[in-house]
Amino acid sequence: LTNVAIAEALKALELEPQNSGTSTGSKWMHGGSTFESVSPVDGATIASVTQTTPEEYEQVVQTAQEAFKTWRVMPAPQRGEVVRQFNAELRRLKEPLGKLVSYEMGKSYQEGLGEVQEMIDICDFAVGLSRQLHGLTMHSERPGHRMYEQYHPLGIVGIISAFNFPVAVWSWNTVLAWVCGDVCIWKPSEKTPLTGVACQKIAARVFAKNNLPEGISCLINGDYKVGELMTQDERVPLISATGSTRMGKQVAQAVGSRLGKSLLELGGNNAIIVTPDLDLKMTVIGAVFGAVGTAGQRCTSTRRLIIHESIYDKVKNAIVDAYGQLRIGNPLDENNHVGPLIDTDAVKNYQNALKKVVEEGGKIIVEGGVLEGEGYESGCYVKPAIAEAQNNFEIVQHETFAPVLYLMKYSGSVENAIELQNGVRQGLSSAIMTNNLREAERFLSVAGSDCGIANVNIGTSGAEIGGAFGGEKETGGGRESGSDAWKVYMRRQTNTINYTTELPLAQGIKFDL
Ligand code: NAD
Repeated sequence: LTNVAIAEALKALELEPQNSGTSTGSKWMHGGSTFESVSPVDGATIASVTQTTPEEYEQVVQTAQEAFKTWRVMPAPQRGEVVRQFNAELRRLKEPLGKLVSYEMGKSYQEGLGEVQEMIDICDFAVGLSRQLHGLTMHSERPGHRMYEQYHPLGIVGIISAFNFPVAVWSWNTVLAWVCGDVCIWKPSEKTPLTGVACQKIAARVFAKNNLPEGISCLINGDYKVGELMTQDERVPLISATGSTRMGKQVAQAVGSRLGKSLLELGGNNAIIVTPDLDLKMTVIGAVFGAVGTAGQRCTSTRRLIIHESIYDKVKNAIVDAYGQLRIGNPLDENNHVGPLIDTDAVKNYQNALKKVVEEGGKIIVEGGVLEGEGYESGCYVKPAIAEAQNNFEIVQHETFAPVLYLMKYSGSVENAIELQNGVRQGLSSAIMTNNLREAERFLSVAGSDCGIANVNIGTSGAEIGGAFGGEKETGGGRESGSDAWKVYMRRQTNTINYTTELPLAQGIKFDL
């Protein structure tokens, strides 16, 4: 069944072996060595993709630089119209693309569709935005002067993305950058190259149909070495990088050393505070989906539950019960709740975390383990696990990208829970389950959560495109998607115009000749 469904999806997406590696749009290059896209669903090799060579990268950058000259002078609402057409193609291809995301990455088909829906939503947002790239006007202190600011495009935006949201993260960046007048070069994760090829084909068709030049949407493929070509390249003024904190530190240094701009979206260590005034049913749904959805491979996955001691046993038992009902298996089968991890290295990290938490004094209350036998041949399916742990354990302080949930108690007031929640190096998503207005407001106040995302009576996982997305501390500080996140893709210029015959200086300075 899987094979037939995937074969149909690949056909609908017009994926052919000759489009496998590096692309400036309709033009494809494949001179580099090949690497494989392997599905964690069944361990099958889906396709071979060629790694971008330094020579091919050079061609991509030169083509993008040339394209920028055309794209930047096209009025922004017309660029928005191109994004609208791209969106129409995404709507048409939502099912096959969602299926390929599910098969190549391992998330459930529903989540694969959800990811394409996010692309559709950000396109809608970007189309509206293309008429709203506003700057402010200010009152000049000098008579007969007008002062205002405007936003101009930056040039080439380099996008480096992670495996877990193989297509949505690219779209959050690229469609905003496009309406802003930038051209983009995307390096998808080497673990999910085929979804990248599929998106590039969709975009290229739309640009070609509008008689736009090659180079507005470019694709390069390969591992971190290909990413480094961009991070070290002065011709790429902005690098938007999504992935691990380890990667973010390397990218920040490379881009910072040439004083380029970087937008970093890195790891999280997200907690839900569960207070005595909780709604138990909502808490269980939020916590369990947050911890096991996408097999714990979301940057916003719930890693820690900080539960008040007075309700600890009640909440723990309800969550353990819910774990007993989870079905693990092929994510394309909609009856399953949990699919595979991305690869066997991720399985090792998961096993290591469970070993470490016990070594540090934690107690496993829902056993983990790697599944074997029919349907689990890829070796990537694991059982979601729960451990009771302390916040200061070394392993709890780290993001383990797998379904491992840590439970811990707090006593006294909500301030104690907030201190635990903030007591990690990451600062992405956070949540509180409470019907107590004072506790909720304290959690959201200046002395509350230190994360980029703070939710009340919602879990940590998932976000809407309308808000700015990102986090503080080791999460990198970047913001993408909605609100005014578009400003990072543009350069701000302050303009002052004198329409008199005098030349008064600012601050009343006299300079008579
Ligand atoms: P990863 O860091 O291994 O790789 C991410 C991307 O960075 C890949 O494309 C990789 O090739 C590239 N890369 C790695 N080192 C590089 C370097 N030195 N120079 C240039 N490029 C380099 O991450 P992953 O395993 O694919 O994804 C999981 C991680 O991503 C988790 O930590 C997760 O929390 C994080 N993530 C964060 C967000 C967010 O918005 N904050 C969203 C999704 C994922």
